[in-house]
Amino acid sequence: MADLKSEKKSGNNTHATQFPAPPFAHQKQPFPGLAGKMQPRPDHGEESYKGSGKLNGRKVLITGGDSGIGRAVAIAYAREGADVAINYLPEEEDDACEVIALIKKAGRKAAAIPGDIRDEAFCEQLVSQAVDALGGLDILVNNAGRQQFCESIEALTTEAFDATFKTNVYAMFWITKAAIPHLPQGSVIINTSSVQAYEPSEILLDYAQTKAAIVVFTKSLAKQLAPKGIRVNAVAPGPYWTVLQCSGGQPQEKIEQFGANAPLGRPGQPVEIALLYVTLAAPENSYSSGQVWCSDGGTGTL
Ligand code: NAD
Ligand code: MG
Repeated sequence: MADLKSEKKSGNNTHATQFPAPPFAHQKQPFPGLAGKMQPRPDHGEESYKGSGKLNGRKVLITGGDSGIGRAVAIAYAREGADVAINYLPEEEDDACEVIALIKKAGRKAAAIPGDIRDEAFCEQLVSQAVDALGGLDILVNNAGRQQFCESIEALTTEAFDATFKTNVYAMFWITKAAIPHLPQGSVIINTSSVQAYEPSEILLDYAQTKAAIVVFTKSLAKQLAPKGIRVNAVAPGPYWTVLQCSGGQPQEKIEQFGANAPLGRPGQPVEIALLYVTLAAPENSYSSGQVWCSDGGTGTL
């Protein structure tokens, strides 16, 4: 059998070649950035994801649902039959409008709830607005995240460290805490960690710590909520082609080669991880809790 590298060169390996591979053009955007301005535009499953009723009638809140992984999950969940509320920052309204239109096109209820989750009072409002708009809640996807690279600990400010922890850890705690009283038996919480929790980059000192905290939060909360019949899991993506990376997540020279180190030789597209979130949320997956599911283009590390 030909090895993967030669298959990649000859273009025979569909997993390696079916989506864009590096080199990519430099493309710096200010945080939080817009998926709509990326080149090439990420594939969130807009044209390709087909549902089969796996989440019929479910009511979902997704943070960071405007772009990237959260958008792919929003599209997939709506096409699987769920009503979906998304949260995002006000600057991301253009991306969010596209997602809301796609959820409605799938024939489901959609709610757009912009606001900054670094604020505890907003997190509480976010949950109650989602519950009011959807008539309840039984799936929570904590997906919003802040990733801003910084070369050295001396240059990492307290403000930046605090913003990363507020967005990635505190908001997950506040939103989850506010959601639990609304979640009936059979509900699901899915958190977004990262391979950074296990193999931290030297330039993501603060971010990597938050992603490790998400793993432990997931495992502890899964035990706590098992008696209530609520499952809690996490997804750990590897390099995915999203605006997080182009809006300060990586230096531009790394954007150019983004995903090149993955065995598949390219970054993942958000649509390629949506099915993990669907499967974790599906009621048939009733014995999986406290787990971290990885998708990173083939390292086998997790
Ligand atoms: P993305 O930029 O498309 O999504 C992140 C979202 O977080 C933004 O759209 C924004 O709405 C939200 N957000 C950030 N700060 C916020 C704030 N203060 N208030 C409200 N919302 C805020 O990028 P993505 O890559 O899809 O990121 C989704 C998740 O995936 C993040 O948790 C990220 O850490 C994780 N992740 C991404 C990768 C990757 O390679 N792209 C790898 C591992 C993990
Ligand atoms: Mg966004």
